[in-house]
Amino acid sequence: MRHFFLIAFLFLCCASFAQDAEREKIRQIEQQKEFERARLVRTELDSGIYFLNHEQYELADEKLKYALSNMRGIPSDLTYYFGKNSYHIGKYKQSVDWLTKYIQLKGTSGQFSTEAAEWLKKAEGSLLQERQAESVKASEILSKDFTIDCGPTGKVTCPVCNGSTVTIRKDYFGEEKYKTCPYCNKHGYLTCEDYNLLLRGQLKTSTNK
Ligand SMILES: [Zn+2]
Repeated sequence: MRHFFLIAFLFLCCASFAQDAEREKIRQIEQQKEFERARLVRTELDSGIYFLNHEQYELADEKLKYALSNMRGIPSDLTYYFGKNSYHIGKYKQSVDWLTKYIQLKGTSGQFSTEAAEWLKKAEGSLLQERQAESVKASEILSKDFTIDCGPTGKVTCPVCNGSTVTIRKDYFGEEKYKTCPYCNKHGYLTCEDYNLLLRGQLKTSTNK
């Protein structure tokens, strides 16, 4: 009888070990797949940048869009590359949108801040001309449809008050009225989560929070 229990015990024990090993194997396979997927996305992003630098903008557009749709959080550099490339394929609103994003995220200290500001100026100029010409545009991809990665600080200067924590509005008599910025709660910055909500027009102001 004793032997029976011992054998039963050993059997259950081994079965549970085998199950654990199986689970571990599945986990490793999943992880491997995820690495492979991330590597592929990274490769597409790199070739997108390559094509952009070699003036093959349509190809770059394809690759960068692939990276945009397959990354969990969009790195700030990608907002710059996509914004710049969008200018070259004549999608000026899209270009303004993504370049503005880069500048909001990086301020003046980013690797591409100077270039981003220059391309933004060009894109804004072209957008204005285009609007004046009232031309029909193809559907554009806007940053509000994506989750933006704000970088290691996880904060972004509040784009509503530019970090000043106050908003200035003119009343009916043309007098300037100062109001506490309702978005950043006297901080002058937004958390990454709030920033992404703001982009989607879903960030509630402090008055109706
Ligand atoms: Zn603010």
